[in-house]
Amino acid sequence: MLIALNDDARVKDVQSALQGLGLWTRRLETEDGQQALAVEPHSTAVSIERIRAVDGVAAVFRPASPHPRLDAQAGRALDLGPARIGGHEKPLLMAGPCAIESQEQVNEAAEIVKRAGGLFLRGGAYKPRTSPYSFSGHGEPALRWMRAAADRHGLGVITEALGEAGLDEVIAHADIIQIGTRNMQNFSLLKAVGQGGKPVLLKRGRAATIEEWLLAGEHVLAGGATAVIFCERGIQSFDPQTRNLLDLGAVALLKHVYKQPVIVDPSHATGRRDLIPHLARAGLAAGADGLLLEVHPRADEALSDGPQALSAGALIGLGQSLRRPREQVLELPQITVEAAGSSKGERS
Ligand code: PEP
Ligand code: MN
Repeated sequence: MLIALNDDARVKDVQSALQGLGLWTRRLETEDGQQALAVEPHSTAVSIERIRAVDGVAAVFRPASPHPRLDAQAGRALDLGPARIGGHEKPLLMAGPCAIESQEQVNEAAEIVKRAGGLFLRGGAYKPRTSPYSFSGHGEPALRWMRAAADRHGLGVITEALGEAGLDEVIAHADIIQIGTRNMQNFSLLKAVGQGGKPVLLKRGRAATIEEWLLAGEHVLAGGATAVIFCERGIQSFDPQTRNLLDLGAVALLKHVYKQPVIVDPSHATGRRDLIPHLARAGLAAGADGLLLEVHPRADEALSDGPQALSAGALIGLGQSLRRPREQVLELPQITVEAAGSSKGERS
């Protein structure tokens, strides 16, 4: 937003008055010598009328937003089929294994998720793996096992679309389609997934700016998705002790400034199950609407991401603490989870 000032206005005074309204501004030099201010994106939303009323303000220009469809979903409660998000609901829990490994495993996982109070079963039928020799998912049969397990326990399904091949099957079996971090800017996939006409959970790219992430969300909505949910799963950092760096500032910005639905994934953010309860709570404190968590009935045997998989007991303990209003969740004592042995499991 741009604010033009009267010729005789004292810029510093106008800036102070605007700051009092929650608007952070930067001074602009215009060619014709007119004094103007640009409003920084992290400012509070203030009506044009209130800005015009500030002494020294001549005119206010609001440029068209680069993401009008996202703006239209801002601050609204969105329908995800089995649940809603973005209203004043209790924190939403989506959980399940990293990968769907067998019919038995996904059934056990669905039962755990249900007992934890989760509303969505997560799990990959198609897994993006750093090595071409790692387990990359069972594909279509896994989608069927997952749907059946979720239906048996009254859960929704969230699963990743890895590419355009097999996408119709993913769309047919899922309630929410996940776009993984590696695909956040795969624009042809974003469009194709959007055309499925379902809600999409868009994970943040490992090195994506928030602007890039928002615009990727706009791509999904422009394609035809009914809603886009942003999932912060950690960005690349220099320190290998945690798998990624959970960006809580991004969570707060998306939720409180852009008013978008946000989910935090502490499993991929940390890569360590013992840190998950702590960052789950931090994510909710920053404004997240819910959590995406990995759980495995036998984490030591997991074909991917074992060290970050919670046990059944830990997920149920954590899940139970979420069945309360947000403020109470933050007041509860933390549950404690033991770390995995350093050599177990394999990261994706
Ligand atoms: C996942 O959720 O299973 C996954 C692969 O996550 P990410 O894309 O965040 O690595
Ligand atoms: Mn995983």
